[in-house]
Amino acid sequence: MQELFTKFDIDISPTQEEMLKSYYDLLISWNEKINLTSITSYDEVVAKHFLDSALLLSSSFCKSALKSDSRIMDVGTGAGFPGMVLAILKPEWKIVLLDSLNKRVDFLNEIISKLSLNNVTAIHGRAEDIARDENYREGFDLVVSRAVADMSLLLELCVPFVSDEGYFVAYKGPKYKDEISSAAHALSELCVKCVSDDSFDLFGADRTLVFFERAGILPDKYPRRAGIPAKRPL
Ligand code: SAM
Repeated sequence: MQELFTKFDIDISPTQEEMLKSYYDLLISWNEKINLTSITSYDEVVAKHFLDSALLLSSSFCKSALKSDSRIMDVGTGAGFPGMVLAILKPEWKIVLLDSLNKRVDFLNEIISKLSLNNVTAIHGRAEDIARDENYREGFDLVVSRAVADMSLLLELCVPFVSDEGYFVAYKGPKYKDEISSAAHALSELCVKCVSDDSFDLFGADRTLVFFERAGILPDKYPRRAGIPAKRPL
């Protein structure tokens, strides 16, 4: 694993590698009880979940924009991608993992406990509701999200967590430019702008990290009530 991560300029210590291996073992054993991942072979999980999640650490924009003690929110984290991997690799970051499925949050809490991670918490809820809680609204230096929704909906779910000086990064595939164009109305309504994109070739799959920052004040009406953003995307 170390050789692979080093190729992408991502530091990983032997202890962190062991932690990711334990994470893999628990992922596979819990996957027999609840649906966490369709990818199960060790090599594929390492490349398509662990390394893909960690690509943020390889991004030049991230290296220049983030402080060492950054607060991170992962919206729709599922089995912990990308947030749990980032928590393992960046113990100095404070990370909140959010998911609307309680069983997945139980799994995340098991990982946190088994790996004795003290920089990460997992919470159960919908982004639309949690973004109304003053402990979380506009409270993060970086909001991350992978494989949760198309860009317009994703922006409404994620931008309300971004602090004044913070960023949102969407993990997207090859059609990211079309998604940004289709999200023009959402970008203007939520007062954010796209500031950077970093693309990677992940063994033939295109992965692009698309970064957004604030371009004004977030209107209080966003996000709309739970379910409405998906039903009527901006
Ligand atoms: N990010 C993970 C990954 O890349 O493997 C999980 C992706 S999974 C396809 C989408 C996840 O988003 C699910 O676990 C789902 O429960 C969660 N989700 C969907 N809508 C949500 C919402 N409004 N608030 C919080 N979580 C949500």
